[in-house]
Amino acid sequence: MKLNRRQQQIVEIVKENGPITGEQIAESLHLTRATLRPDLAILTMAGFLDARPRVGYFYTGKTSEQTENINNLLVKDYYSSPVVASDTTSVYDAIVTMFTMDVGTIFIVDANEMLAGVVSRKDMLRASIGKQELSSLPVTIIMTRMPNITYCYLDDKLVDVGKKLIEREIDSLPVVNEELDGLKVIGRVTKTNITKALVDLSNEQI
Ligand code: ADP
Repeated sequence: MKLNRRQQQIVEIVKENGPITGEQIAESLHLTRATLRPDLAILTMAGFLDARPRVGYFYTGKTSEQTENINNLLVKDYYSSPVVASDTTSVYDAIVTMFTMDVGTIFIVDANEMLAGVVSRKDMLRASIGKQELSSLPVTIIMTRMPNITYCYLDDKLVDVGKKLIEREIDSLPVVNEELDGLKVIGRVTKTNITKALVDLSNEQI
């Protein structure tokens, strides 16, 4: 496996200073921990580095040509923050949120902040060509609602999320945690996240 320049730098830093935390590696490269997350995930999966909770990363000594595998990438290494709106929101306000937050999908949550529905661009367009007054039309009328929402967990494989996006013909999945009163939305995985993973695997730097 061919490492890109940043991945080589990380291996060198860990070789010399390990065990070392992700934050410390990020600091010495003048980058954020979030920027390094995919590289650290790839280096760990490919066996160059190992990570121990509360200890940090250390060098395994492995230099073999072990190939990385897209099947090992996990949601937790590539997900983004979710954009959510309350189930009392109007379609008009949901459209404004979609523009201001620059997302294609908004997750709708109930009073307990549990997943209630999903609204996409097409849902908004459909509502907008009707005769309704959008500021008095509740988003709950037009959203796709539970239990028809496809979602995923942090520990799911990214490739399984990709399969669901294709099968269901949708652009994103909420990442959830199961809680007593429902599913708490903690993130989202979109086609963009999956594209990013693909580019990372090619070892190209953007
Ligand atoms: P767009 O409307 O921008 O093409 P999608 O393809 O994601 O976006 O949405 C298509 C339809 O699928 C919409 O009606 C939307 O409410 C629904 N949808 C989007 N994401 C999900 C999901 N994770 N689970 C269930 N339904 C979804």
